[in-house]
Formats: sequence, structure tokens, C-alpha cells
Amino acid sequence: EHLPFSGKVALITGAAGNIGLATAEHLAAMGADLALLDLDHEKLEQARTGLGGHDVRINIYTCDVMDGGQVSQTVDTVVRELGQIDFLFNNAGYQGAFAPVQDYPDDDFARVMNINVCGAFHVLRYVAQHMITRKFGRIVNTASMAGVQGPPNMAGYAASKFAIVGLTEVAAKDLAPHNIRVNAISPAFMGPGFMWDRQVELQARAGSQYYSTDPKEVAQQMISSVPMRRYGNIDEIPGVVAFLLGEDSSYMTGVNLPISGG
Ligand code: NAD
Repeated sequence: EHLPFSGKVALITGAAGNIGLATAEHLAAMGADLALLDLDHEKLEQARTGLGGHDVRINIYTCDVMDGGQVSQTVDTVVRELGQIDFLFNNAGYQGAFAPVQDYPDDDFARVMNINVCGAFHVLRYVAQHMITRKFGRIVNTASMAGVQGPPNMAGYAASKFAIVGLTEVAAKDLAPHNIRVNAISPAFMGPGFMWDRQVELQARAGSQYYSTDPKEVAQQMISSVPMRRYGNIDEIPGVVAFLLGEDSSYMTGVNLPISGG
């Protein structure tokens, strides 16, 4: 049976998380072989088991994207085991603390930048080196609407996601001569789930003029700011990633697509 992504190998980082796993499922259903990378080994094992119904190769790789040496080794291992990397979904990330900038903890700021920016850079760089040898590659970075308009109390996260948008634009230019396209997606409020609950709770606790101190009211305030008047479902993300990885977006590079309800 020939599926649209048969014969393609996709590397997904943050693959044990909500968006990574939903995208893994979608790409497997489209026929892609998968290299699932995450820091959390146990959740990776569960992810592989959960995806077992798809007739594709699925390998898991426990790796800390903050460590460039580990990333380099892991990319080599993926290429050795699966033969190639056609698609990269560069998606591992961490939301960070919620506090006004003057109180934002130094160590958390550094951690957010290390995971979200240095981590994404390491993966992009080493995978790009491999893709250049094949003169083919499609890369999607996970940014955020927090990387387009900075929300209050999220200094680390917003700075890191603005950086991802910049990295996407630079990489698109540097890699265009090698037939590698690089784009980004920017989800906004996604739910239900851990990320949604956490940000509602922590925005309430941050106690700013922008949000109520009651989490239920914060949820209402966030939803009222969205033209479509609802949060997005995680399942509304993978199809956009597949579009950017596939040939329907063949003349698109360096763009950041909002997934934000308007
Ligand atoms: P999640 O927490 O469910 O998944 C993130 C995954 O990244 C986790 O499995 C975690 O183990 C992994 N990870 C964290 N640090 C790592 C490291 N150093 N090395 C390797 N893996 C690491 O969150 P999610 O919602 O699936 O988020 C995925 C991406 O989407 C992130 O980049 C996040 O910033 C972005 N995003 C999420 C939302 C949302 O509302 N869910 C909105 C906008 C952007």
C-alpha cells in the first residue's frame, strides 16, 4: 500500500509529549517511519507501544537536546538504524516559570533558553548536516504565538520562541541552496491538558493586571481573547505539520504559521 509519506523517515523531538505524540501518530498513519526522541525514556516506551498498530518502523531515542554531543551521536544513530532523515519536527520544549520580568528567576530563564533555543539549534544543525549530504530535507520548528507577541509573565518562554522564529528564518536562507525547507508553527492556547491547566493556574498566581487571580476566570479571559472563542485541540496541529513537511507547501520556506484561532 502506498501512503503519502511511505519511504520517508521523520525525526520528532519532544515525541513523548502531547504535540509530539499526536504528530507521530499522524505521520505514522501517512506511512512515515519514525525516530522518536525525548528526554523521558519511560514515556517514549509507552509512545512506541501506543503506536504499534501502524505498519511503519518506530525507533525510540532517549536524548537531552541541551547536550550537543548527545544530539550529534543520536542523529548518527538514527541515520545508521533507519538509513536517513527526510523530515525533522523540532518540537521539544519547556514553558518555564510565570513571573513579571523583574522577578523572573535567572536559573529558569537560562533553562528555558537552553532547552528551547540551544536544544532546537543542536537538533537543527546536526540533522541539517545529514540532510545536506542527501540534498533533501523538510524541517518544522515548534515556535509559539508567545514568540510573535510576548504575553505577560513569560519572559523566558517568549524570548525563546522569538528566537525560534529568527532561527527558522536564518536556517531557511542558509539551507535553501541544499533543497531543505525550514518552517515553523505557532500554536497559541491549546487544551485541554497539562499545558493549558498549568498556564491558567500560573497566570492567576502571577497576579498581574492582565489576568484575574481566579484560574476559572483566567481561562475565560484567555478564551475571550481568541476570535474563534475556544482553545485549540492538540489534534488540530499535526495536519499543519504534515502540510509543511509535504509537497503541498513546496514553495514555502522561512514562514511561521499561526495555529491560534485567529
Ligand atoms: P509537553 O510538555 O507535553 O511535551 C514536551 C516534550 O519535550 C516532553 O515530552 C519533554 O520530555 C520533552 N523535553 C523537554 N526537555 C527536553 C530535553 N532537554 N531534551 C529532550 N526532550 C525534552 O508539551 P507540548 O505541548 O507537547 O509542547 C511541544 C512544543 O509545543 C513545545 O516546544 C512547546 O513550547 C510548544 N507549544 C505548546 C503549546 C501548548 O499549549 N501545548 C502552545 C505553543 C507552543
